[in-house]
Amino acid sequence: MNDSAGFVAHARWVIPVEPAGRVLDHHAVVVRDGRILAVLPSAQAREQFADRVQVELPRHALIPGLVNAHTHAAMTLLRGLADDLPLMPWLQQHIWPAEQRFVGPQFVRDGSALAVAEMLQAGVTCFSDMYFFGEETAQVAAAAGMRAVVGLIAIDFPSAYAADADDYLRKGIALHDAWHGHALIRTAFAPHAPYTVSDEPLRRIATLAEELDLPLHIHLHETAHEVAQSEARYGVRPLERLAQLGLLSPRLIGVHATQLLAGEIASLAAEGASIVHCPESNMKLASGTCPLPALLAAGVNVAIGTDGAASNNDLDLLGELKTAGLLAKLGSADAAAAPAPALLHMATLGGARALGLDEEIGSLVPGKAADMVALDLSAPHCQPVHDPVSQLIYAAGREAVTDVWVAGRRLLHERRLTTLDAAAIVAKAAEWGERIGAADHDHSSG
Ligand SMILES: [Zn+2]
Repeated sequence: MNDSAGFVAHARWVIPVEPAGRVLDHHAVVVRDGRILAVLPSAQAREQFADRVQVELPRHALIPGLVNAHTHAAMTLLRGLADDLPLMPWLQQHIWPAEQRFVGPQFVRDGSALAVAEMLQAGVTCFSDMYFFGEETAQVAAAAGMRAVVGLIAIDFPSAYAADADDYLRKGIALHDAWHGHALIRTAFAPHAPYTVSDEPLRRIATLAEELDLPLHIHLHETAHEVAQSEARYGVRPLERLAQLGLLSPRLIGVHATQLLAGEIASLAAEGASIVHCPESNMKLASGTCPLPALLAAGVNVAIGTDGAASNNDLDLLGELKTAGLLAKLGSADAAAAPAPALLHMATLGGARALGLDEEIGSLVPGKAADMVALDLSAPHCQPVHDPVSQLIYAAGREAVTDVWVAGRRLLHERRLTTLDAAAIVAKAAEWGERIGAADHDHSSG
C-alpha cells in the first residue's frame, strides 16, 4: 500500500483533541501528502473518497500522535542498572561512572534506536531529547521516520562529547545547521540545568535562542536541594536566576518543576513558558511533586515527559498520563483534578505547543501533519467503553496501540515496526547490557 498517495482511516472513535473534549463516532481521517485533508463521518468519506486506500479501524480510537516532551533516549541502555537508590548515590556511584566509560556515538546510536522502537510501539510520534551526541539521535529518528526535537546540550563539565561550554555550543550550532529545514527533525537549546550551567553560557544561549528562533529546554526546580543550593550560591531561586539571565519567555520549557511558589506559577503563566511534568521520574527518585492542578488552573501550558529510562524505567507515555492523573488527585485531595481530557491534551497539543510545533502537530485537524495513533479498545481490560478518553488514560495502556503514522507514513502496522529491525535493536541492547553490567559490578565492588 502506498500511503503517500493518500488514504482514509476509518475509526470507531476519532478523538481530535481540538476542539477540546470532542469524541467523534464512526469518523474518518483523510490523509494526502502526509497531511490531514479532512475529518468527517465515515459514511460520507466512503462516498467522497472512494478511490483512496481505506484503512479500517473498527474497534479503535484514533488520536493525535503522542509527544514525549522530555527524555534522554540513549539512556535506555542504562535501564534498570541501579534502582531504589537516592538521587546522589544513584548518579555518583552508577549512572555517571557508566556514562563516563561508555557514552560515545555508538552508545547513543544504539540506545536511541531502542528508545525509538519502544516509543513508536507506545504511540509516541515525537520526542524532545536531551543528551550527548545528538547527531546520532537525529539520524536514528530520521531513518525511522519519527519526529524529534533534538537538544543542543550544554553543561559546564567536559564529556566524551565536548570539552567546555564553548565546545558544547559550537557543536550544538553545527548540529542545528546540519538539520535545519528537515521535515521531521528540529532542534532546541538544551542547557542541562541551572546548577550545571553557569551564567555566561546561559546568557549566550538566551541570545542564540532568539536569533535562531529555537525553544529552550532545561531541567528546572527538580528538587528542593537544587533550589536551596541556588539560594545559597546566587541569592535567588533558579527560576528567578533564569529570568535575570533572559531565559524566561515563551521559548522556555522547564522540566520537572516540583518546587514552585504561587508567584512563580503566575510568572510562568504571564511569560507563556511551558512546564514538562515527569511524574514517574519525580516519584521514583523521590524528588517531589509538580503542582499540576495549580499550573493548569493558572493557564500554564503543561506537557508530559517520561524522562530517561534510567529513572522511570520505561518510555510509556500513556502510563505516565495515568500516573500524572492519579498523583494530581491524591496530591490535591480533589478527585476532579486533572481530568482525562486535560491529561490527553498534555500528551498531544500541550507537548506540541511547548516545542513550538502546535501549528504542525498535536491535534487531528485539516492542514496538520498526519501524526496519528490507533488503539484497539476491544480487549477485555478495555471493555465496555463508556468514555473512550477515560478508557485511554485509565485502562487501555500502551499495549492497545496497534498502528502509528508520522506525516502519513505507517511506522507501526498492526503492531509491527515497519522501518526498524526490532530483533537487531534488542540484540545490540543486550550486548550493551552485558558490558555495562560487568563494569558497574566492578566499579561498585572495587
Ligand atoms: Zn531529564
